[in-house]
Amino acid sequence: MLASLMEAAGDIVVRLNHQGQILYASQRTIDLVNARRDLIGGALSELVCATERDALQAALADALATRQPSRIKLRIKAGDALPWFDFQLSAYAAPGDSGELLAVGRDVSSMHATEVHLRHLATHDGLTGLPNRALLSDRLRMAVAQARRSGHGFSVAALDLDGFKKVNDGLGHPTGDALLRVASARLIKALRNSDTLARIGGDEFVIIMPGAVSSADIKLVCGRMISMMQAPFEVQGHTLHVSASVGVAVYPEHGEDEVTLLAHADAAMYRAKETGKACCVVYDSTRIGQPEHDLSLEAAMFQAVTNGEFFLDFQPIVDARSRQIQGFETLMRWLRPGLGLVPPSRFIPIAETNGLINLLGAWALKASCVQLKSFQSVAKRPLYVSVNVSPRQFRQAQFLELLDQAIALSGIAGDQLLLEITEGTLMTDPLQAEAIMHKIVARKVRIAIDDFGTGYSSLAYLKRFPIAILKIDRAFIKDLPGSEKDAAICNAILSLAHHLQMSVVAEGVETEQQHQFLLERQCSYIQGYLTGKPMSPHSVLELLAATGIPARPVCAA
Ligand code: C2E
Ligand code: CA
Ligand code: CA
Repeated sequence: MLASLMEAAGDIVVRLNHQGQILYASQRTIDLVNARRDLIGGALSELVCATERDALQAALADALATRQPSRIKLRIKAGDALPWFDFQLSAYAAPGDSGELLAVGRDVSSMHATEVHLRHLATHDGLTGLPNRALLSDRLRMAVAQARRSGHGFSVAALDLDGFKKVNDGLGHPTGDALLRVASARLIKALRNSDTLARIGGDEFVIIMPGAVSSADIKLVCGRMISMMQAPFEVQGHTLHVSASVGVAVYPEHGEDEVTLLAHADAAMYRAKETGKACCVVYDSTRIGQPEHDLSLEAAMFQAVTNGEFFLDFQPIVDARSRQIQGFETLMRWLRPGLGLVPPSRFIPIAETNGLINLLGAWALKASCVQLKSFQSVAKRPLYVSVNVSPRQFRQAQFLELLDQAIALSGIAGDQLLLEITEGTLMTDPLQAEAIMHKIVARKVRIAIDDFGTGYSSLAYLKRFPIAILKIDRAFIKDLPGSEKDAAICNAILSLAHHLQMSVVAEGVETEQQHQFLLERQCSYIQGYLTGKPMSPHSVLELLAATGIPARPVCAA
């Protein structure tokens, strides 16, 4: 009965002598390994993948020595033409002191395949099958480690398709997706086997190119990618034209870690876009950024991120009439140990050009929402937080994802978050800006135009874009009420906003006279030193606890 039970079992069942020679093999074992000759007398290890034979012998010896079952995962060859199977083998010492063993093996190939598949899904982009951001980070770290050891450099290219958005918006996502698939197949053709091509979002690709460090090498590879993207794409019955802008950073000249390299490749890519698209720009710290670009400050910035030198202050925004706090604007601070505070007007423009703004901005957004939640729980009423969003961050493919994460992570409501963008952000590519804004408003998040009046102040966009709030720049407030011109500008902005059903926040209000002037013209909100300076979250919590609004009076009679 035992024998027929073993024969019936779907598993491998073998009896072995102490040397691992097969004394008995169940029919299933014979079928599975497709044995043409008798297995009896042969060694079990011969059926096993050569690299795993020692491990098998060790497991058998262990089972005999300890008289405890010993388990091992092995690959078994099933016939010459057949694939390897993954087996989970358990070996037991036979009762008595014959020195014999019993081994039972279960086919776990399908489980193993699922595991491999899951791992692939977590590290690859579903659309193109290319490595995703997570795997890219891994490979970049490895490339850095390897380059450090070998002394051979490598380069990182950030590639962005020009004109992809038009295809996606105009012809729909299925066409956009198909285009991305064909484009990535073309890119692979332009690269060498040792290069890594990853897709990290929408139409953004990153390429790691080992050994490509001379400008001739870089030009060659990038030139090939760019020309491949320029040939028309025949996709779903459409003939489509896109191009590629590429930015390159070289290890170690342009960065010695993966964050710096990626940020610099990205900055160079933006420059390629500015210089007319369809071209390749190699990072050059002297050309990127403003004339007053400060190299030592920039180097210190990367370090400062790692050292946690950035933090956030919050400035109250109050109701002009009641002076009750409605919300807070988040203001970023950088305290350099031993050197003091660096004003944001100095470090934000640099972060804009070297790409760090994406990292800093993402942190500021998430941290602001989380912080707001703690403010609300002390104030016991819904407040809002108003976060500055830089133009570059606003256009980033992952921005909406980040927005969702910030809201989900903190548990605040969408309408408790306000994003401050500038007129410049809107005017660079109004079509794209409009599309992003609608997606933001769909999440109930409101948009404020910061520093209003200092940029284009286009009346057309005020009508067209979903803007909830205008923030009058401090420049127009500071000489109120004396300056007739500033008074006229403030009057005009306030009346315009009322007619367009927008609220107005007056920034930089320092005196009671300014406050009075604005109040008389129905300005809804005030922000300035008069009603509250930027302060630490701790001070905000103390303030909110102290000015807790008393419960509404209840008639006790
Ligand atoms: P902003 O968005 O216009 O911020 C308002 C600025 O006015 C802040 O300067 C604030 O401290 C200052 N301020 C507020 N009330 C008064 C007042 O009554 N009198 C005077 N004299 N100043 C007042 P700050 O903190 O130096 O920030 C400067 C700029 O840096 C901000 O201008 C904003 O454009 C940028 N910034 C700050 N934090 C961030 C951030 O997290 N992300 C981005 N992208 N930009 C930021
Ligand atoms: Ca602002
Ligand atoms: Ca402002």
